[in-house]
Amino acid sequence: MNVVQYTLSGSTIALHIRRTAKKNIIIRAHRSGGLQLSIPPWLTGKQLTEWLDAHTSLLQKALSRAHFPDTKTLPEHIWFMGRHCRIAVHSEPDLFFDAAATTFRLPEQYDTARQRLLLRSYLFQEATAVLLPKLAAHSRKLQLYPAKTALSRAGSFWGVCRSTGGIRLNWRLIGAPEYVQDYVCRHELCHLVHPNHSTGFWKMLRRCTPYTDSAAAWLKAHGKELFLLD
Ligand SMILES: [Zn+2]
Repeated sequence: MNVVQYTLSGSTIALHIRRTAKKNIIIRAHRSGGLQLSIPPWLTGKQLTEWLDAHTSLLQKALSRAHFPDTKTLPEHIWFMGRHCRIAVHSEPDLFFDAAATTFRLPEQYDTARQRLLLRSYLFQEATAVLLPKLAAHSRKLQLYPAKTALSRAGSFWGVCRSTGGIRLNWRLIGAPEYVQDYVCRHELCHLVHPNHSTGFWKMLRRCTPYTDSAAAWLKAHGKELFLLD
């Protein structure tokens, strides 16, 4: 990715330029407010500048979409199991997680909304497969059994524990590293003994979860980035 400044009708905009295997130039609004351009591998800088100067109305139009809500764009990266994964496209009709390249590949023929949906439902499925069994394993280890367990779609908390409602974990924790997921599971399980964040609660949690501080620090640093798809 190469970022260049371009002057359009007197104002400077950032162009995020990416070379792809495609034959033509594709312009999209970039979430930073500038534009994202996918250009063919053979296009020279001079040819690109000429093309841009000849297509300013196209640029204006794409730019006017830049202020659409973020649900219309795809993030460039997304967290998955603590890995900062790139998002790219491919010509296949389905999502593919390329673990070696830490890249999610989405069908290029889908529009952004559909790509988002596909990625989101993949991650939600992974969350179901990973987080609830993990919670059950910690529950057995600590011999603390919640009434029920479920995933939550809340926008404001990582986990919640109620004596009757049981424990709900935010599905977006699928983005976090495993030790962070472990920490949230144990945090909520300890609430079965200590409902509040009392000294006794932290003492118990730190005793069974020595990595409490680093896990909490990870969530503080990256927690917001786990919400990019909502
Ligand atoms: Zn708590």
